[in-house]
Amino acid sequence: MTTTTVSPIALLGAGPAALALAIALRRAGLQPLVLGRPRPRPATEGLSWRVAQGFEQLGCRTALSLLKAPWRRVSAWAGTTVEMNGEFVVERQALDAALWEDARRAGVALQPALVREVEHRGEGGWRIHWEDARGGSHVTRAGFVVESRGRGAPKWAADQAAAAPRVALCRAFTGARRGRRTTFTESFEHGWAWGTLDAAGAAQVQLVLHPDTLKAHGGDVDAAHAAGMHQLPMCTALLGPSLQPAGGTAVRGIQAVLRGGTCLEDGLRLGDAAYGSDPLSGHGMFEAVSGALAAAPTLRTLLERPADAQAAREFYAARAREVFAQRLQAARAHYAGETRWPHAPFWQALQAGAAALVPVAQPQAAAIAARPVVENGFIVRRRVVLAPGHPRGVRFIDGVDLPALHDALRGGAPDPSMETLAAQLHQPPGAVHGALRWLQAQRLA
Ligand SMILES: Cc1cc2nc3c(=O)[nH]c(=O)nc-3n(C[C@H](O)[C@H](O)[C@H](O)COP(=O)(O)OP(=O)(O)OC[C@H]3O[C@@H](n4cnc5c(N)ncnc54)[C@H](O)[C@@H]3O)c2cc1C
Repeated sequence: MTTTTVSPIALLGAGPAALALAIALRRAGLQPLVLGRPRPRPATEGLSWRVAQGFEQLGCRTALSLLKAPWRRVSAWAGTTVEMNGEFVVERQALDAALWEDARRAGVALQPALVREVEHRGEGGWRIHWEDARGGSHVTRAGFVVESRGRGAPKWAADQAAAAPRVALCRAFTGARRGRRTTFTESFEHGWAWGTLDAAGAAQVQLVLHPDTLKAHGGDVDAAHAAGMHQLPMCTALLGPSLQPAGGTAVRGIQAVLRGGTCLEDGLRLGDAAYGSDPLSGHGMFEAVSGALAAAPTLRTLLERPADAQAAREFYAARAREVFAQRLQAARAHYAGETRWPHAPFWQALQAGAAALVPVAQPQAAAIAARPVVENGFIVRRRVVLAPGHPRGVRFIDGVDLPALHDALRGGAPDPSMETLAAQLHQPPGAVHGALRWLQAQRLA
């Protein structure tokens, strides 16, 4: 027998994207229902301070307690080895379970569920067919759906952009040299490696390869991984000579993709279900959490302020497109720094125009225009400064409203003093000075 329930907002998935948004919505007084199952396989991933800040902002104490101190980070790229800012290392099943617990503590309604099918019967008419842990069938009717089931989530529309797929092979080892907890990145002829070494000598090495490299090994993932390990001098020196595999090689697909239909009137896509970036940037979890912080005001506006719904949809879709394009460009610039194997298929394919996948119109000169922005938890149209490098606009510098400062400069007495401007804008003179300098750099003052 199938049971039917009703929920105004259903979030599909149980990863960082779904859980961060659920907490943000709950804090804003909404009651979303999370329908998700835990990720089926373990994975070790790195995350930055900015993700930790996102967890802090959302009060995710259980997740934060897993992070401990950042690990030392070493990179051997383009023949140069450098030590960089540290990163946190987490086991993803543990992190996702911690976020689930944080969502529970925040009062979110959580339903362990395997979502089987999602029907969209016109605006506000979603039916989610799901199974509980005992295989019981259920239907939840929802007015708004957030698709956050990761990179494998069903599409709502054709992809806006998709880069060539890559494959990641990850293997765990024991017997590595004991020492400081370290993460490392190293480029080689057939791709690049990211790995971790803990203080007890346990290590993980993840190789990112062109799919043809795997084919060249007849699909034997252990052999392909072992061959890659032989091409990593920095990794070999760091891990030492007594390394022993602990289990087989796990495979994960990789593809930078911007999905279509990121924001509908009654639904949005979030995290990897909206866009996925190259793991070289290590930004996947950051995008999930920062995307959730942008999705919350978008969703509230769509539900509570129909007059601003169009602005909300524009805001969310433009953000996804621009962030995706920025990540692609950053990854491409990083790959371009490695020039030692220009004819190797991995490097050749990467340098062949990935950044052109999503053209984002860049303002040629600074100008003032109305654009959707976040204000008090909702999306509204406000005047901002569009400038080269800032296609969605900048509204405040040091708390000073830039268009208001621009108006004050144009409309007031010639050469006003900083004190006069500060009094007019109700901001301290130091802040107004900073904002003025920014406008001057854009040739708007
Ligand atoms: C090889 C590789 C290495 C990476 N390394 C890093 C890294 O070091 N740092 C980093 O920040 N990011 C990394 N990423 C990216 C990161 O894993 C993702 O960007 C991030 O997990 C996205 O979070 P999400 O919540 O959108 O999706 P996911 O974390 O994929 O969560 C999706 C959730 O939906 C659930 N789900 C799926 N299908 C169903 C269903 N039918 N019913 C119910 N629930 C379902 C899943 O179980 C899971 O809980 C890496 C990715 C890859 C492929």
